[in-house]
This record gives sequence, structure tokens and C-alpha cells, in this order.
Amino acid sequence: MAAHIGVRRMALADVCPGLEDTLLIGIIIGSQNSRTVTIRKDLSLRGVWNFTFRDSEADFVNVTVWGTPAYIDSCTDKFHVGDVVSITNAKIAFRVTGGSEDTFRPEVSSPFQLTLTEGSSEMQHHDLPDAPSFMHLLHIPTRQSLDTVPVRDINSNGNVMQGNFVNLLVAVQNVQRVRQIKMQDGRQVECREVTVFDCTGSGLSLQLWEKELIYQASQWKSRETILYAVDIRMKWNNFRNSCIPTVTSKTIITVDPQVPDAECLRVYAHAAPLQATAIIDYLASNIVDAGTIRNVLSVRAVLSRAWADLNKTMSDDEQQFTALIYAAVTHLDLHHENVVVTKCTSCNKMVSGGNSCVNPECAVEQGSEMFVPLRVFNIRINLSDHTGTLKNCRLTADAAELVLGCTAPQFDSMSSDQKILLKWNLLLEHCAARILVLKASHERRQPYISLVSCNIADLAEVASRLPVL
Ligand SMILES: [Zn+2]
Repeated sequence: MAAHIGVRRMALADVCPGLEDTLLIGIIIGSQNSRTVTIRKDLSLRGVWNFTFRDSEADFVNVTVWGTPAYIDSCTDKFHVGDVVSITNAKIAFRVTGGSEDTFRPEVSSPFQLTLTEGSSEMQHHDLPDAPSFMHLLHIPTRQSLDTVPVRDINSNGNVMQGNFVNLLVAVQNVQRVRQIKMQDGRQVECREVTVFDCTGSGLSLQLWEKELIYQASQWKSRETILYAVDIRMKWNNFRNSCIPTVTSKTIITVDPQVPDAECLRVYAHAAPLQATAIIDYLASNIVDAGTIRNVLSVRAVLSRAWADLNKTMSDDEQQFTALIYAAVTHLDLHHENVVVTKCTSCNKMVSGGNSCVNPECAVEQGSEMFVPLRVFNIRINLSDHTGTLKNCRLTADAAELVLGCTAPQFDSMSSDQKILLKWNLLLEHCAARILVLKASHERRQPYISLVSCNIADLAEVASRLPVL
């Protein structure tokens, strides 16, 4: 601790410009990519790294470190977000406002800005007994007011936000692997996409370009990690043809923030329907009155609508539609082993064999609930009319029991002949099928179709309502 001799330990709240021989102790809450710049005077190369440092709930400041490129590399290897560090002999100056500082660096509470220079200032890991007392600062958002934008609004209206900065309070849905991307100027950079959701929508893709966050994200867990992201930039993406929320050097992400809204989201995130099949089953089971589905479409019209927005990001409402189709059941396999499956009542996930649930997110697997199996139908059928065929339509749970006229346990105890009879009751008959369609989108590369209800239609009804195309 030689570096600490002759210096005064101070709090960020008490420093002022020009003050020398200070020792500050706090935690790194943000770290931006380092750069190498050419000094005009002697054309030498200098490295520069910016990070954000906090020593109390109210006080946090941006720090710039200058040195040889090798020194800067060693700093970014050594110091990461979440590290408690001591900073000795930083140069303290008033923060410049109104310029590029505001655009490219995180918004901070301190009116100052710290500069460290290789050789005259020093930074070390702080491992004295008081170090753990700084850890909670990592989970306190850097903004008092949580003026967040719901995922639904970005999914449906993101394009009008182009260029804006937004704040998000979201749960992690999926962390993708790191990709190497070649930039127009030839540089190779790393990028990682993280999809997130909240109570209003899901499948929102966040792009990470900052090394430190790309590294941190490998520890984020689906349905568990909550992110409070301040100053996410809404940037146009040519490939997606829409505005994508992008993490920039200005963004600060607080992982598992300690705010009441985050607690509500955490509870929701645990069991929210996120897989396409879970979403469509959930939506289909929430249609109270199938009779309200009256817009008649041909199979061809259903397919063209289901594939229409493949490269778009859509709001939850735009992603689905319902239709009434007049069609014949052209494929129905009631002898397949997965016609009836066992689900866990607690988490609603399918259980293969066994007498317990192995879903790691389930209360049963975690030991707090008893395993209660539930037998449910899980049938795939094809529906055809004169314009085409809808393959693999889902006929599940209650809708299947209504269509077949028996419960799943009753079906289990039927003989093979009885099942054949049941099948021929429906096969090739003209049906009025009410369907719910989850469109193909950028995240979901194929549409999902679920039968909400299906009954035999009389031929006069079919003749009068069947669309030509
Ligand atoms: Zn379960």
C-alpha cells in the first residue's frame, strides 16, 4: 500500500478541482471500450480508457485513463465492472458539458471529471475489509426516476424513436453467442445480441458492442436477470429495416436493480410464456368465445398474411390474427405416441416419461411444490381448401377435447379401433375451423397456427361463405 502514504482518503462528494494527493475508493459501475489515438505533436500513440466510478448512492463520476497502449490494455484486462478499486492522485477538473462528452459518456451526478495518467496516478484493486460495503452500489440505478419505455412501444413504434435515447427495465430472454463483424473500414469488432422482454412484450433484440458488457452478458440468465438500462440509443438497422435499441458508450446497465418495479418484473419473468408454442397455446386458451372469430379467409390468404412480416419487428397485437376457414381435415394422426402428452401442472412444460419435472425453472424441480402430472392432447393436423394446405396446425388441450368429443384420459383408455373411428369422424369432412395464427417474424422464422375450435360445417354454409381466393 505504498501508494497510499501521504494521501488523504476522501469521498467523491467532498473533492474539488485542483485538489491533490487524494485517495478515492469505490466501485466500477460502467466501462467503455478503450481506444488508441495518435498525438499530433509527436505522432506517438496513446491509449485511452473511460470508466464510471461510484462511491455512494448519490455520487458517481466518469474517469479517463491515459497511458501507453500496452498500459491501457493491461488496465482493461485487470479492471472490470463490479471491481472495488482505489484511485490515487487523480486530476480533478470540472466536467465539460454540452459537447461530445454528453453524447458519448454516461450521464453522471458529479460535476467533476477525473483523469488518471500512467506514472503519476495509480489505480489498484481495493481488498480491505470495507470493500464488500461498496457492492450494493452496483444494483442502484443511476437515475432516480424510472422513466422507462415498455417493450411493446419499441416493438410497435420504435421507428419514430430513431436517434433518441431511451431507458428500459427488462428481463433477459436469451443471450446469443458473440459474433465477429467486419466493419466498413476493415476493422473486426465483436457484437452480441441479447433478447429481452417485459410484461408488455417480448423478443426485443438489444445489440451490445462494448467489450465489457459482451463479457458480462455471458453471466446473464434467461428469465432471471433483470436489466435497468439507461440511455439506450435507438439506431436504424438496414438489415432489419427497423430501429434497434443499441447499447453505446453512453449506456449504463444496472444488473438486478433494487427497485420495486424490478421485483414485479422478476415475478412475471419466471413464468411468462416466451416460446412460440407456449405463446400460441396461451393466446389460444385465452380466447373466451371462439364464435367471435368471423372473418373468413382462404388457406392461401392465411399463409400470405402469416409470412408477410418476416423481417419486421412487430408489437404483440400485430404478431397475431384470427380467421375462420372452411377446409377439410386432410391429415390427422391419432396413433402417434405424442398425441397425448404429460405436462407438469406447475410450469406447464412437457415432461418426457419419468415421475417428475426436470425444468430447472420449475417450482417442482426446486423442491417447493409437488409434481402433479396432467394428460393433455397435443395433436397436429393439416387443413386444406381449394387454395392450399395449412400444415401442422396445433390442436391442443381444451380445444382438442371439444373437437374430438373426449378427454385426454378417456382417449388414453380407448382401443385402437375406437381411435380409428374417432379419426374418421373428422377426416375429410368440411369443417368450419377457427384458427389463431402467430406470424413468422425476425425472431420466429415460421408461423404457428392453432385451432381454437373446429366443427363440421353444413354444405350450404360452406357454399355461401367460401372465399374464391
Ligand atoms: Zn414443472
